[in-house]
Amino acid sequence: MRALIVIDFTNDFVDGSLPVGQPGIDIAPRVSELTEAFVGSGDYVVMAVDLHETNDPYHPESSLFPPHNLRGTRGRELYGSLNTVYEQNRESIYWMDKTRYSAFSGTDLELKLRERGITELHLIGVCTDICVLHTAVDAYNKGFSLTIHEDAVASFNPDGHSWALGHFRGSLGAGVVSGE
Ligand code: ZN
Repeated sequence: MRALIVIDFTNDFVDGSLPVGQPGIDIAPRVSELTEAFVGSGDYVVMAVDLHETNDPYHPESSLFPPHNLRGTRGRELYGSLNTVYEQNRESIYWMDKTRYSAFSGTDLELKLRERGITELHLIGVCTDICVLHTAVDAYNKGFSLTIHEDAVASFNPDGHSWALGHFRGSLGAGVVSGE
């Protein structure tokens, strides 16, 4: 059994307050296409979406990044056509708030996957070298097999993006695929 984890593909992360920019905009159609395909084939689909509170003095990201993905803001809504795909398939997509880079950190993601007998994770979204990377590392350590869709991940940092793709392949044993 497999699942698609769509990571942080929100307005703030694509063209908002902490933006990937053009590489993020460029993958948007493929992110929507893959999400629709996984929903269509009856696979488990998770929207793993960063959540922050305004002026949270305890959160480690407060000193690292400008405010982003604040609760209840437009910045935290899904970007572009992915928002439409989500709205049209709300009953079959699991919206999951997360507060750290990894989608496994402080969430019930692992329980949801294990309950369903899911062993194979497909990761898409942003940033390749931050939240996708940290989610992939946790998944690897928990024994999930990994596929990263190269044409549906992006970063503001081209070097970090390339390095992470190599790390997925060479150190996490992931399949790195595109246009499948
Ligand atoms: Zn964050």
